[in-house]
Order: sequence, then structure tokens, then C-alpha cells
Amino acid sequence: MSRTIGIDLGTTNSCVAVLDDKGTPRVLTVDGERTLPSVVSFAPGGAVEVGVAARRQAVTNAESTIFGAKRLIGRKVNTEDVTWFAGLAPFRIVAAPNGDAWLRIHGEPVSPQEVSAQILRRLRSIAEASLGETVTRAVITVPAYFDDAQRQATRDAGAIAGLDVLRILNEPTAAALAYGAHRGGGAQRVIAVFDLGGGTFDVSIMVVENNLFEVVATDGDNALGGDDWDRCVLEHLVAEFQRQHRVDLRANATAMARLREACEEAKKALSTEKQTQLRLPFLGADDRGGPINLDRTISRAEVEQLTSALVARLEAPCQRALQAAGLSAAQIHDVLLVGGMTRWPAVEAVVERFFGRRPSKGANPDEVVAMGAAQYAGILAGDSDEAALLDVTPRDIGIKVGDGRFSVLIPRNSMLPVRTRKQFATSSPDQKFVAIELYQGESNDVAKNRKLGQVVLGDLPPGPAGSVRVDLVLTIDVESILSVTARELRTGKEASVTIRPSGGLSQREITEIIARRRQASAQATGFELNLPAGAVTRVPTTELTADLSGDASSRGPFEGPEGPGRGGGAPR
Ligand code: AMP
Repeated sequence: MSRTIGIDLGTTNSCVAVLDDKGTPRVLTVDGERTLPSVVSFAPGGAVEVGVAARRQAVTNAESTIFGAKRLIGRKVNTEDVTWFAGLAPFRIVAAPNGDAWLRIHGEPVSPQEVSAQILRRLRSIAEASLGETVTRAVITVPAYFDDAQRQATRDAGAIAGLDVLRILNEPTAAALAYGAHRGGGAQRVIAVFDLGGGTFDVSIMVVENNLFEVVATDGDNALGGDDWDRCVLEHLVAEFQRQHRVDLRANATAMARLREACEEAKKALSTEKQTQLRLPFLGADDRGGPINLDRTISRAEVEQLTSALVARLEAPCQRALQAAGLSAAQIHDVLLVGGMTRWPAVEAVVERFFGRRPSKGANPDEVVAMGAAQYAGILAGDSDEAALLDVTPRDIGIKVGDGRFSVLIPRNSMLPVRTRKQFATSSPDQKFVAIELYQGESNDVAKNRKLGQVVLGDLPPGPAGSVRVDLVLTIDVESILSVTARELRTGKEASVTIRPSGGLSQREITEIIARRRQASAQATGFELNLPAGAVTRVPTTELTADLSGDASSRGPFEGPEGPGRGGGAPR
């Protein structure tokens, strides 16, 4: 059986790893590049570049060179984060007919799933070249706060790339696995995962016990990452260049791209050196077209001073995450560093000061998530003898009650599969039907959560308010498929609905994209892509049963405007 790869599909960079024959995770590389920039460039004729080559295209082809697709995948176009990103991205972000955030590239609508699929396909081919075998199965990581739609959209991207995605794994869980946080001899450990990448900052508080990894709180800053450090240095040097030579480099896209790259390289060098040299010949030209070079020493102290405001933004999310977890910094057993930017000494110093302990640095921070994903892939495939981790629901699932409140029926972090049961009663006399709306999210206000669907039970028997009782059963299986059944207790009449996580693309659309790609690929190479086989994984069952008697009088979901036949009276 071919091996299952672990993929860290990052906002800025992605990485692929596999468990080797000795059970050790190994990053897979081609040409020595251990991470792949998550950038995809589309040429007008249909040619696609991925990674470093795509990033270079950004200078001349900014409108069709897509970065940050992870910020869009499975999201609606009108969300705050998408609006923010659309304001700064040089490419067009548009609304799909269902309201999802898509891209418009060379006049054609393209889903973020297709863009991510290009990155996944490249990672898959890196893995195949490195292993010398066909790869069809993967574990892909996502941030812990991704909801079901974002997770499903990521799965769909995998399917488009010809991968059977065995599991979507939380990034902090993958990092904790790679750090061996579960080998604590059964004792409960509280872990903070501090993840500062190129474009985003996430902090997660986790409880690890007996192979169960529970993310108890997450916070972060979606608009803070290593790119901001590079930008601070870049802006300083552009201003200096203008003062010294009266030349505005901002008018020259190629010079700006060269300088940005040099700033990032300098920053990386300065995480271990006290100073480094910036040397860029012919960066600008004087009035007569003569070359102006940039040649200067830059020190770590100087960069630290330029970026001190960025470092100051790291503490508040840590504070909020601890507060949400109801913990103090002193109660954290381990702090794990993830993301390339945690190599920067001032970042590490802030972490150490805030948590009052030295963070663990056993692994390469930009590879640790992919390594954890590979380890998990090994567990699923039975290559590793560690006990299987249990999959949990990422967000609260519940129903709309009263005047728009959210009543949680399956709390997040419930082990899959899960089943819950609750009884509700009508809120009005002779109520004809009830419409139970299902939501996912963490807000008490349902309007701020994501609607999953609804089940309508009609022809209720007549009776005074509170006399007609409905039994509601919610089940989520290991594939995250939610089944809901509402049954009126007196007549036994039932209505049910099955809600599959939707990433925004229908199965037909995915099949069409795959078929299109197969055709293009067959034309280009004479070979066909492998299609996913479809896998089912099983974990033990747990049951979560609500106290039926205590809730029998609850008017629950039947309050509110959707229940006609209440004689127009106000909900009681
Ligand atoms: P990631 O998204 O985890 O790949 O992190 C990418 C960010 O880490 C980029 O901003 C890189 O410039 C930054 N980075 C990578 N290596 C280093 C390093 N040695 N020192 C400082 N920053 C680094």
C-alpha cells in the first residue's frame, strides 16, 4: 500500500512530510527546498506556476498571481477577514453565486479550492518524486478555528488534486504530536502552541491527555506575520534611499520586489547574526540613467527597533487565549514554537517573558506541523504503533431558540461520532409546525454563526402551549455528517435532515473540475491523474445524552417568528 503524506497547507508556505521506515517523520524535498511558497500564478494561456516561480511572477503578473488562498477557502465574501484581505490583495476577489469568496483570474471565476489544489498537486508531485512511488492519500492540517465549511473546502481542494484526504487535522494538534506532547506518561499536560508564520499569528491552548488533544482556546491576529517585519525594513530603506538619492523606488516594481526579497533574507540572517550586509547593485537609476547601488550594513538591533510595534502586538492574543481557557500563564506546562518567524530572537523573548518559561525548540518551527501531520498519517495507516487520536467537533453545534439566541446541543471538542438528544415543547397554542434551524459557531447570537440547515416538522396535533413535545436527536458521524431527526412524541410523526459539510463546491462541480484537469493533464503529458479512492476511518463511539426530563418544558426552538398557527401572539 502506498504511503500517506502529511501536508501543512499554509497561508504563506506549505510543507509535505512522510513517516519513514523507522517511524520518523521526514520532510520531502525537491531541489533542497523544504517549504513551498503558497503562491500560484496563472498565465493567460492556461499555464500555471506554483511556489518560488509563481512568487517571481508577482512583479509582472500581480493580478493573476494568487497568494493567501487559505484566507478565502470556504468563506463568504462579506466576512470581515475577506473584506480586509480584498482591500490589500492585487488580484480580484469576487462573490460566487452562493456568496462564497472566489477569485476572478483573466476574466474567469476561480474558486480558492482550485488554487489550493494547485499547491496540493505540487506537494503531491514533490512527494512522488522524492519517494519514487504514486501518492494518493494525505492528512492535511488546518487552523483549529476553521469551521466545517472551511475544512470541507480544504478536503475538496485535496480531491481536486487527486488526493484522498484521510483526515483534516488541527495545526496545533499536529505541532503537539510532532513535539511528542502526548508521551507524558498519561499525565494531563496543558500546552500553549505559539504559531507566527509569514502572514498570520495563532495561539492555541491545548490539553493533552492519553492521546486526546483538546484545543480549549484559540486566539490570534490574522493580519500579523513575518511579512510585516519585512515590510517595516523595506519602508525604512525606501525612505532612506529617497533621502540619499532623491529616487522613489516605489515607482519601480522590480526594484521593490528585489528589495523585499533582500529584506526577508537579511531578517533571516539576523536571527542568528548580529549584523549582515545588504547588497543590491543597480537598484535605482539617477537622472542620467546611471546606476545607483544599495550597499549597507544592517544590524539586528536596527531591525528590532523598526519592528518593536509588531512585537508588542503578540501579547494581547496570548492574554485573551489564556483568559478564554480560564488559565494563568503559570498553569501552562509547555510552550511550543511553530512558524518560521518564531526564529526571530525578539519573538522568542516575548514568548519566554509572557509564559515565564523557555519555549520548546526541538523541531524546525516551519516544518513541525507537516511532521505532525505525517505522524498522524502513520497512525491512521497503522505504520505507527501510537494509539489513534480521536477526532472532535471543531465548533459548537446547536439550534436557534427564542428571539435569535443560540442553544448549544453538541459542544465543540465532542468526540466523533457523537449523538445528543433533547426534548422541546411548543410555545403557542395549536402550533401547526416547527422549524428547527441548525447553526455552527461560538456566538450566543445565532446571526453571527453559520447556518447549517433546518428541519421542519408539520401537522402537529392541536393542544395548549407546552403540551406538544418534540424529541430532537442530533448525530454526527466520523465523516462529520450531521443527521437530525425531530419526532412528535404523541403521534410519532418524524422529519429528518442530513447535512453534509459543504465547502461551497457541489460534488458535481468537484467532479467537473477533476475531469477538466484530467483532460488538460492527459493532453499535456499523455497520462491521467489518479483519482481519490475514498476512505472511511472509524473511531470509538461516545454518546452525549441530554437530560430529557429537565428540558421537557423548554419552549426552545419553537419560540420566534417561524412558527405560524400561534394566533399571531407574541412568543411566551
Ligand atoms: P511559515 O509561514 O511558517 O513558513 O513562516 C514564514 C515566515 O517565517 C516568513 O516571514 C519568513 O521570513 C520567516 N522566517 C523563516 N525563517 C526565518 C528565520 N531564520 N528568521 C526569521 N524569520 C524567519
